[in-house]
Amino acid sequence: MRMNVAVIGAGLAGAAAARVLKANGHDVSLFDKGRGVGGRMSSRRAQTPAGALRFNHGAQYVTAQSDSFTALLTDAAAAGAAQTWDGRLVSIDRGGNQADLRGGGRWIGMPSMNGLVKHALAGLNIHTQRRATKLIGEPGSWTIKFEDGSSEGPFERIALTLPPEQLIDFLARSDGDFAPLIAAAKHVEIAPCWTVMAALDQPFDPGFDGAKLLGGAVRWMALTATTAPVGVVLQASPDWSTAFLEDEPESVAKALCEEVFVRFGMPEPVWRTAHRWRYAMVTEAVGSPTQIDDSGSVGVAGDWRLGGKAESAWLSGEALGKALSG
Ligand SMILES: Cc1cc2nc3c(=O)[nH]c(=O)nc-3n(C[C@H](O)[C@H](O)[C@H](O)COP(=O)(O)OP(=O)(O)OC[C@H]3O[C@@H](n4cnc5c(N)ncnc54)[C@H](O)[C@@H]3O)c2cc1C
Repeated sequence: MRMNVAVIGAGLAGAAAARVLKANGHDVSLFDKGRGVGGRMSSRRAQTPAGALRFNHGAQYVTAQSDSFTALLTDAAAAGAAQTWDGRLVSIDRGGNQADLRGGGRWIGMPSMNGLVKHALAGLNIHTQRRATKLIGEPGSWTIKFEDGSSEGPFERIALTLPPEQLIDFLARSDGDFAPLIAAAKHVEIAPCWTVMAALDQPFDPGFDGAKLLGGAVRWMALTATTAPVGVVLQASPDWSTAFLEDEPESVAKALCEEVFVRFGMPEPVWRTAHRWRYAMVTEAVGSPTQIDDSGSVGVAGDWRLGGKAESAWLSGEALGKALSG
């Protein structure tokens, strides 16, 4: 039976759920509160005094173990929307000791990370700048209410791929009994991450393209190039991000840039900004890919079900798409 299905959230989990639902013959509409798609795989273009730059301010690269995520990456690479990342990746400890970052098989979206999500969403019916606030109605006939007062529906099935805090709010306001879904989401722990984007108008080569740093405020540092204009991304550690969560973006940008000046001699940026991911990295996941309400009409997915990686989001979304398709 062909059904009218809504997917809320157009990140990787939403993309995976929507693709499975569409492949099973359903009419699928996606809604996202963002100006663009991608969620935590977002990218930002900036006109800086050093020149135009593109920053990946969420996920830096992805890895794949499953056949399904590998297939997405291979397919995206063939379409020019992804490629393997062979950059110089290192880890540097408190004492300055440097080692190659372990592991391999790293992929990036092209021309930036959200190119991968856009590829996964190709051909789907997507509505951005639509912040969903609640469901009204009953199983099999749900209407979605949006922050701007508009509504969409009726939908027979609803796929929710919001991060846990937003999901709990959404379900608590909705008609229906979603207590088991809320209870599972409440167990999840998700840390914030302050991210700084900076532009340099002179060459800078600290000897790596990406580095996991231990022992300071900055946990990850990546460069878009070593010749000007150089774009630099700095991600603060979960502990530091939590401690300074309510600070002003400029004071965060200043603190993190000063740290990498002291550590690596990074020149003074000619442009910088900070983005606060209030819910960034899942540190404690539910442990199962998806969950459906008692009526079988509303289900949830996201990286927070399986662990905080892009691949977890993808696999969770696929499981939700399958569960709602039947
Ligand atoms: C700084 C940072 C670095 C990371 N680094 C890596 C990495 O290197 N490798 C890796 O594998 N993973 C990394 N991750 C994790 C990875 O980005 C996530 O696991 C993955 O993108 C999560 O996808 P998702 O679809 O579950 O959630 P999201 O991408 O968060 O998608 C949820 C979507 O729901 C939308 N939404 C929320 N509320 C509403 C609402 N009320 N109405 C409508 N839409 C709504 C949001 O706008 C968003 O687009 C990183 C994450 C961050 C933040």
